[in-house]
Amino acid sequence: MFGNAYKIATVWGIPIKVHMSLIVVVGILTLNAGWSGGPGAMLDRILIAIGLFTSVALHELGHSFVAIRKGCKVREITLMFMGGAAQMERMPRRPMDEMLMALAGPAVSLGLGLLGFFGGRQLIRVGISYPGFIIYILGWINFFLAGFNLLPSFPMDGGRVLRAALTPKIGRLRATFIAARLGKIMAVLFGLYGFLAEQRNWMLVAIAFFIYTAAGREYRVVQMEEAAKRGEGGPFWNPFAPPPEPGPPPGDADVVISPPPYAPNQREEHVEVDVER
Ligand SMILES: [Zn+2]
Repeated sequence: MFGNAYKIATVWGIPIKVHMSLIVVVGILTLNAGWSGGPGAMLDRILIAIGLFTSVALHELGHSFVAIRKGCKVREITLMFMGGAAQMERMPRRPMDEMLMALAGPAVSLGLGLLGFFGGRQLIRVGISYPGFIIYILGWINFFLAGFNLLPSFPMDGGRVLRAALTPKIGRLRATFIAARLGKIMAVLFGLYGFLAEQRNWMLVAIAFFIYTAAGREYRVVQMEEAAKRGEGGPFWNPFAPPPEPGPPPGDADVVISPPPYAPNQREEHVEVDVER
């Protein structure tokens, strides 16, 4: 569904694909490092890139593991330059399940972070310096992945945790609204920072744009689901919900990034009556 992606592995029957955008960006960064720092810097860049995207794949597999156990089907995992995405055919809807699934990715990253941090340090200590150094850096990268994804806003995993925590109190729609609004605020801050930083950071601006649109889409998906439910006389209509935002309905061309594990192809779900909440 992302187009231009190449399958590199299959785990638990889930194809893991690398998107062209990732290959291009890593290629440019590597050449850039080689240009300014020589072959050594190039090797660092390549090893760290491979480690980073292995880490992202493991993070997504963490989400997938819980998803599969909760009876959902994971269609594929795609690694892109701004992160990874696992596409689910069905998502768990009980807040507790959703929270577990959202936490599984950052938990994997945290585990990898501890492994890299202590493992790398140990390797350096016994004189295996270079691999130790790369592993140590990857440890920090995984700490960052865990922390960033736990930000309490969509489309980060923390947004899903927040929604799951709020849903029993204020309903799924209102909870999604809050997490999505926080995501948009955060995206604007990231974007401004990337734009105004001394060395303008276009990567950050691109990521901010992505977060902003993904946050809005999350909310629209839930709006549609709730509207479908209302049509069926569901009891969850929230009169305080904000009015619908204009925009196309989520469809196959939409991407939800992750590190959040979720995919927009939930049309099947829209007609489902969810009685578990
Ligand atoms: Zn995640």
